[in-house]
Parts: sequence; structure tokens; C-alpha cells
Amino acid sequence: MPRKKQAGGQGSGGEGSDGQDKSGRKKRGLSRNEKIILSKLREADRPLKAYEMLELARPDGFTAPMTVYRALRGLIALGLAKKIARLNAFVAVTEEDGDRIDAYLICRRCGRTDARPIERHAFISMLGAEDMPVDDVFIEVFGACTVCASAPA
Ligand SMILES: [Zn+2]
Repeated sequence: MPRKKQAGGQGSGGEGSDGQDKSGRKKRGLSRNEKIILSKLREADRPLKAYEMLELARPDGFTAPMTVYRALRGLIALGLAKKIARLNAFVAVTEEDGDRIDAYLICRRCGRTDARPIERHAFISMLGAEDMPVDDVFIEVFGACTVCASAPA
């Protein structure tokens, strides 16, 4: 039986004046494979590539990359995972809801990734994009984490 998914970091739950879910995503239960892949992503402290997820999920019966990709597609459609385009790797979404989006701070050297929630409205208005019905935002910031920055290159 599918367990109820754990909602990581439920936020305000407040709705905007337009009264619709700004993410525009449908809610549904997770398949077994989606739950497994999501748990691997949540356990990791950096983005995972599909082949890494396949290795981590082998004990759970995953044998083919397609299975991983299918689960990832489902998680992304639900707003529970995101692709870090520059790395071609994936992260679990922790803080996002209608009012907040995650900005990803990624260490170039060790790959450690921090998700920092930012206010959706503030970001959209900073861009002067209030007139555009924005339905997806990706913010990837690259640099060196505190550990790597203080270590010799
Ligand atoms: Zn680092």
C-alpha cells in the first residue's frame, strides 16, 4: 500500500489572491519506485546523476536506467525533484511550495549542494516579471563551499 508521502517543509499554505496553486502541479500518490528514488535523493547531500541513483537503488530491485528516469519524471512532475541542468544531476525539492522557490548553491569542487528558499514574489518582482505568468524557476549558483574554500586547491 502506498504510504502517505511525507511533505518536507510544509510552508504557509497561504494562497495568493488568484486562489490557484501557483505551481500548477497535480497532487497524487507516489509509486513505489518514485518513493525509493526520492529517498535516495533526500539522503544525498549533493545532486545525484541517474547512474548513481541506479547503483544506490539496485538493492531495491532497480536494474535499468529507464526505471530511474521514469521515477524521476514522475517526481519532477510532482514538484518533488529538480534537475540541476549544469550538472545533469537531480536533487530532492525540500522547501518549495507556491510561495517559495529553492535556489541551489552548488560547490564546484565537492558537489555539495544547499537549497536556500527564497520568496517567489520577491524574486519575480526583482526581475520585473510580474506580467509574465511564471510557472517554473531554476536558480543554480556555483562556487566553493566553506569547507572547500578554506582547503588548499
Ligand atoms: Zn565543497
